[in-house]
Amino acid sequence: MGTPASPRARNTPLGGPASVVDTACPLDCPDSCSLAVTVHHGKVVTIDGSQKNPTTDGFICAKVRKFGDRVYGPDRLLYPGVRKGRKGEGRFERVPWDAALELIVDRMQRAKAESGGESILPYSYGGSNGLMTQDNFDATLWRRFGTSRLARTLCAAPTGAANMALYGKMPSVVYEDYPEAQLIILWGVNPSTSGIHLVPFVRDAQKRGAKLIVIDPRSTQMARAADVHLPIRPGTDVAVALAIHNYLFASGLADEEFLGAHTRHADRLRERAAEWSIAKAAEVAGIDAAALECVATLYGQSSPALIRCGWGLERNRNGGNAAMAVLSLPAVGGKFGVRGGGYSMSNSASWNIDRRWIGAPEPATRVVNMNHLGRVLLEERTPPVRVLFVYNCNPAATVPDQNRVIAGLKREDLFTVVFDQVMTDTALHADVVLPATTFLEGYDFARAYGPLSLDLGRPVIDAVGESRSNADVFGELCSRLDLLDHDEPTGELDLLVRMLNALPEPIGENLRNGERPAPPFGSRPIQFVDVFPNTADRKVDLFPEAFEKGAPLGLYRYQPDPATDRYPLALISPASDQTISSTLGELLRGEVKLLMHPQDAARRGLADNDLVRIFNDQGEVHCAVNVLPTIRPGTVSLPKGLWRRSTRNGVTGTALVPDTLTDIAGGACFNDARVEVASLPVA
Ligand code: SF4
Repeated sequence: MGTPASPRARNTPLGGPASVVDTACPLDCPDSCSLAVTVHHGKVVTIDGSQKNPTTDGFICAKVRKFGDRVYGPDRLLYPGVRKGRKGEGRFERVPWDAALELIVDRMQRAKAESGGESILPYSYGGSNGLMTQDNFDATLWRRFGTSRLARTLCAAPTGAANMALYGKMPSVVYEDYPEAQLIILWGVNPSTSGIHLVPFVRDAQKRGAKLIVIDPRSTQMARAADVHLPIRPGTDVAVALAIHNYLFASGLADEEFLGAHTRHADRLRERAAEWSIAKAAEVAGIDAAALECVATLYGQSSPALIRCGWGLERNRNGGNAAMAVLSLPAVGGKFGVRGGGYSMSNSASWNIDRRWIGAPEPATRVVNMNHLGRVLLEERTPPVRVLFVYNCNPAATVPDQNRVIAGLKREDLFTVVFDQVMTDTALHADVVLPATTFLEGYDFARAYGPLSLDLGRPVIDAVGESRSNADVFGELCSRLDLLDHDEPTGELDLLVRMLNALPEPIGENLRNGERPAPPFGSRPIQFVDVFPNTADRKVDLFPEAFEKGAPLGLYRYQPDPATDRYPLALISPASDQTISSTLGELLRGEVKLLMHPQDAARRGLADNDLVRIFNDQGEVHCAVNVLPTIRPGTVSLPKGLWRRSTRNGVTGTALVPDTLTDIAGGACFNDARVEVASLPVA
């Protein structure tokens, strides 16, 4: 393995030399920035963007600039601990690693002996880490021990399934090609807060004459800069997209030649779309029909035309069908084959990384949908969950039906391990907490899912406190549970070498040499010129039969709004510029506010900054209200990823979210929360 790039030295106002160390951001954000971290006396001083990754271009988000506050903050977990108080109190006694691991091993073995391996539920998501910290030794451990399996469906399941079914996750249009487009549609995505490096490319396109359309219930910064903004009611994206399809077919703007040559089952999509006139879709979505027709015409007549499909449109009962209807538009409109035309979705599959290093087949154990955590902890009996092992995520804050999740975590007969960087809302309920390293304290692969980039992040500082990497801890647990062959590696550096060797060449070699590898098909592939659908016949399947059979009403169908007279308001929870999902939520200062349109506030006698209760039959959240016309009437908004400390009553928006599932792929229906808002009497 080559030597990591040498730190650059410079003098700092702090006195003495400081080093600037190159690394990469592996957090759950599309951009995977290259970072320049200034270190002084072994501590992080500043974190900034570097020029190593051209898409980063020397700047990063404010979230990661303050990541040092997580590394050294008061919530950082420094030592293993065993619970002393009641669950939720957060009182732990420091214990040696050895004692903590032995306790975990003992409880896992007892649970397996008495109730079977499925009584152990590993629970994780990729929120705070890159390729090295998930689906490695942890997967080996769970698979070989025969635990329950987890369907990781909290985010991106419906869009991922649609992208796979239609195009086999064909590589997307990269940011650098946006300026080539004549029309850009940002659908259910807000790059001003997530994936910020797309913004300059969109602005550049606009300067060069491109039209911008934004589809979002909120009047975001990008929406205000758009030529057309469609502030649709949450959950109606499928109707809007099908009306555009219908318009393209009916007005001769569908590309019949492309459909004939490169797709299957276009007639079945045409038939379903025919049910949606512009007027009908506009009424369902609560938007101006003329504006929707303008969007359909612009899309039909523009080339190159590009759709940036986000994740906002999947977070409801119709999420899978919405993703199918939106992602199939470029095929019907014939928008492929030119630079700047086509679609962008996740590029995570573009490096052909197959995780062959896991080294253990998946057992045929039960699968638990992660969105059902609360009900599984409280109701599952065959067998009940006896050991819950949480890492890389914070379900007490992020999973639907928060009150039931918390009730499940409080079960006295449940043994919960939380392995995390900070004392999260979930960790407060643990029996054992284990301190994890951050990405600044170890190696990790940062694979972008917006741009096409793959970097190797390097340790910038030593592990803080007694924190350990995921590879070290899961490797050690495998070893203590006798799950390894005698020559199998177990530590972080072993895993790093194993992964580098398993990557397709020359990717592994580039990374070993400190170089940034080029994607297999070039860094700016044109869809249907350089890359094609990864389907058996390289065609787009516009009507996958499995979805027609599996979705409650079939494919390209709309399920009505769940609002009732008692709970008429749609509550959404979009990404904010403060957190990455719930990562960094411990740093939020001040009280969160509910965003509400002035019409809705007036109807309820509310004024800006009033204290309110947001409620439905599942629970209620207490906070202040921010009355602004930057959200459509009938929809209210709380930021995604809030920790319980951010509201007056320690309950966040996920308490109001049903644990129902999307029509396709079992995703979370965050935006199906329907609520009422009323003034909160001051005690
Ligand atoms: S969170 Fe995103 S924008 Fe921020 S540093 Fe990481 S990759 Fe860059």
